[in-house]
Amino acid sequence: MAVATLFDSSLAVIADKSDSTTPPAVRRIVIVGGGTAGWMTALIFARSLIRKGVDITLLESPTVPTVGVGEGSTPWLQGFFDTLGIEEAEWMPACHATYKCGISFDGWSTKPGFERYFHPFASMLDNMTMTPFVHNVEARLRGASVWAHPNRFFISARLVAERRSPKAREHFPFDVWHGYHFDATLLGQFLHAKALERGVRYKSCHVTHATLSADGTIASVSTREGETIAADLFVDCTGFAGLLIEKTLKVPFLSFADNLFNDAAVAIPSPVEESVPSETVATALKYGWVWKIPLTSRYGNGYVYSTHFCARDAAETELRQHLGLLDSDVEARHLKMRVGRVARLWDKNCLAVGLAQGFVEPLEATALMFIQHLAMAFVQLLDRGDLGEDAQARFNARFNRQFEGIRDYIVTHYKTNSRTDTEYWRANAANTKLSENLQKLYSTWTAGKSIVPGVRAQELGLGYPVASWLALLAGMGCFPDPQRLRPPTGSEAQFSLAEIDDLLSRCAGNYLDHREALQHIPPRRQTRALQVYFW
Ligand SMILES: Cc1cc2nc3c(=O)[nH]c(=O)nc-3n(C[C@H](O)[C@H](O)[C@H](O)COP(=O)(O)OP(=O)(O)OC[C@H]3O[C@@H](n4cnc5c(N)ncnc54)[C@H](O)[C@@H]3O)c2cc1C
Repeated sequence: MAVATLFDSSLAVIADKSDSTTPPAVRRIVIVGGGTAGWMTALIFARSLIRKGVDITLLESPTVPTVGVGEGSTPWLQGFFDTLGIEEAEWMPACHATYKCGISFDGWSTKPGFERYFHPFASMLDNMTMTPFVHNVEARLRGASVWAHPNRFFISARLVAERRSPKAREHFPFDVWHGYHFDATLLGQFLHAKALERGVRYKSCHVTHATLSADGTIASVSTREGETIAADLFVDCTGFAGLLIEKTLKVPFLSFADNLFNDAAVAIPSPVEESVPSETVATALKYGWVWKIPLTSRYGNGYVYSTHFCARDAAETELRQHLGLLDSDVEARHLKMRVGRVARLWDKNCLAVGLAQGFVEPLEATALMFIQHLAMAFVQLLDRGDLGEDAQARFNARFNRQFEGIRDYIVTHYKTNSRTDTEYWRANAANTKLSENLQKLYSTWTAGKSIVPGVRAQELGLGYPVASWLALLAGMGCFPDPQRLRPPTGSEAQFSLAEIDDLLSRCAGNYLDHREALQHIPPRRQTRALQVYFW
C-alpha cells in the first residue's frame, strides 16, 4: 500500500532571507508589460527587493491591450496572495472571484460511463479514498470489472456536485485545496494598485526598441514618448509580442504546434445563475473545447480551437449555439494564440515571464502558476547573487522541463480522446509526436502496469501528481474494453463503493454552500501542512 506524503513547502513563497544582499549588479529592474505577468512579477520582486534599495519600474503601453483572458487558476495562487499578505476577503470581491475545486471534462471521451469526469485538486481528505481509487484503477487496468471512475473517490468532486465551496464550517478543520476563478481585467487592476502601494514605479509608455551594450546585454529601452530608460535587468512581460526576449535578443521560439493543434480562441460572456458552481467546465466541441468559468458577475466562456480545422466565423457560431446565444448581440472577442516556448527564458540580462516566455493553451489553467513559480525562483537567485552562466543554464533547464511537463499533461487529454466525429479529434488521437517521457508513461499504462512509482519518483509524467494522472487516464476510460473485463478477485473487490459514498456524503455536509461562502468569505486557515497532498 502506498503512503501519503504531506509537505508544506509548496504553497507559500520561499522564506525571504532578509540578511542577504542583492548584488550591486542588479539595482534597477525594468519590467516591460502590465498584464497579469507584469504585475505578478512586480509584486513578487517588490516584496523582497524594494527594501534593499532596488528600483523596480513597470512600463506599459497605452495602446497595446492586455490579453484580457486567463480567468482560472490552480491552488498555487493561494500562496501568491498569502505571501503578499492579501486576504481573500479583500481581493476576491474586488475581482468577482469564486472558488474552484477543479475542472470537469465533458465530451472528451465517448466511452460509455466515461463521457464526463472531474479533475480534482486533491487534498488532505482524499487520503481516505486515494488508496481505494488507485487500487481500483490498477485492478481495472489489469482487466477486473471494478468501479474506477474518479468522481466517486474525491471530496472535491462531491462538493462540486452539491455546489458547495471548498471552505469547511468552523468545527471541521479541513479546507479542501482549491484554486480560483476571477475577472482577468479586474485582477490586473487590483495587482496594479497593490504594486504601486508597495513602491513599484509605473510609466504608461510604448517601448519602441531596445539598445544593446557591446557585450550583447540590453542597456536600455526607448519609448515612443521620447524617453530612454536604462536598467541592470529587464523583464519581458510584453505577451505574445516577446519584444525583448525574441525581437531584441533573438532567442528562438520553439513551437508546440505539432502536438497542441489549437491556435485561436473566441470568448463570449453569459449570465451566471444564483447558485454558482465551484468548478470550471471544459466541454469538447467539434474542433476544440469550451471553457465555462463562473464569476460572481457572469460566466466567462471561450472556445479554444484550431484554425487548421475550423474557420473563425464557424467557431463563433458553434460557440453561440453551445451557449444558446445564437441570436444574441453580445459581442464575441477573437484571439490568436501561439503555443510553445522560447528556447531560453532567461537570456543575458533579460527574463521572459508570461506569454512572452511561452504558452501551452489554457486547458488546465496553468499560466499564472508558472508565472508565479518563475518570478519566485528568480528572486531567490537575485537574493543569493547567483546570476552566473551555470545558474542561468540550470534555471532555464529547470523551467523548460517544468513547462514541458505541463504540456505533456495537456497533450494527454487530446491523445486519449475517443471522439471520431471530426478530423480534428481523429488527428489528435492519431498524434505520435509525443515526448519521450509521455511515450514511456503510455507504454507503461497500456501494458497494464502501474504508473504510480514512476510518477511519484518524477520519472514519468513530470509536474503532476498521481491523483491527476489517474484522474485523467481513468476519467477518459483508458481501460480494457468492457467486454474483455472479468469478475474481480476477492482482493480486487475489497473496497466498498457504498462506504466511500457514505463517507464523502458525511464529509461534504461540513462545507459551506458556494454562494454563502462568497458572501461571507471566511479567513484562510493557516494549516498548509495539512492541505497539500501528493500521493
Ligand atoms: C485564450 C486564453 C485563455 C487563457 N486562460 C487562462 C487561464 O484560465 N488561466 C491562466 O492561468 N492563464 C490563462 N491564459 C494565459 C493568461 O491569460 C496569461 O498568461 C496572463 O494573462 C499573462 O499575460 P501576459 O501578462 O504575459 O500578457 P498580456 O496580458 O498580453 O500583457 C502584455 C502587456 O505588455 C504590454 N506591451 C506590449 N507591447 C508593449 C510595448 N511595446 N511597450 C510597452 N508595453 C507593451 C501591453 O500593454 C500589456 O500590458 C489564457 C490565455 C489565453 C490566450
